[in-house]
Amino acid sequence: MSKVALVTGGTRGIGAAISIAFKNAGYKVAANYGGNDAAAEKFKAETGIPVFKWDVGDFAACAAGIKDVVGALGPIDVLINNAGITRDAMLHKMTPEHWRDVMRVDLDSIFNMSRHVIDSMRERNFGRIVNISSINGQKGQMGQTNYSAAKAGIVGFTKALAQETAKKGITVNVIAPGYIDTEMLQAVPEKVLESIIATIPVGRLGKADEIAKMALFLAGDDAAFITGATMTVNGAQYIAG
Ligand code: NDP
Repeated sequence: MSKVALVTGGTRGIGAAISIAFKNAGYKVAANYGGNDAAAEKFKAETGIPVFKWDVGDFAACAAGIKDVVGALGPIDVLINNAGITRDAMLHKMTPEHWRDVMRVDLDSIFNMSRHVIDSMRERNFGRIVNISSINGQKGQMGQTNYSAAKAGIVGFTKALAQETAKKGITVNVIAPGYIDTEMLQAVPEKVLESIIATIPVGRLGKADEIAKMALFLAGDDAAFITGATMTVNGAQYIAG
């Protein structure tokens, strides 16, 4: 029987590539999104993947959203915590709202979502949780104290939960993408983007599909012994120890 995969922020960018890769691999896929109905409807029409709107920063909304997904597709075998936002500013200009928005969508969401799938995964002695962090959570990035903190927090969460769930057949891993060619990067001025590419030894931005393939591998049976790990996918831009 097909496994069920839920991808947060699964209608655009990296998340959309993950949703499509899982569908093509035979999973039943649900794609969550936060607010962009037009993009979600377009994605649904093009892929046939059902979309579910809720705010991953809201604990109660995650409970209700996951209930809907389980009702439609069945219990969740694979959770890809991908939704994320940036609110960049140097710390001396950062507002509490910049900080809070990023922490709730990028880090609280990991707790909110995982908390609502973990009981079912434990009962069924199987689960895969893949958390999307970032190169900037590994190396830090000027103008992103909020984002770097949230993305580094994901790594600590993952290491702890991996230990808690290892005996239950549940793996929990991180993918830390480098700079990937998605709409998120459209916020970056072209000159800054050129200077970023110059620091990537492979000489280009990553592709969303390259992250999707890693997520698919981590969800598969062949990755059963990989848990608590951070998979760096960044063209050697930053080589984490
Ligand atoms: P995009 O901005 O292209 O897409 C973000 C997705 O997340 C959208 O589907 C969006 O939904 C959803 N989302 C945002 N806020 C919420 C919310 N509150 N509740 C539910 N869904 C939400 O991002 P990317 O594809 O570029 O990034 C995906 C992940 O990868 C993020 O976690 C990001 O931090 C990380 N990453 C990206 C890198 C890059 O270079 N692009 C590099 C390293 C990490 P909607 O369409 O409704 O807005």
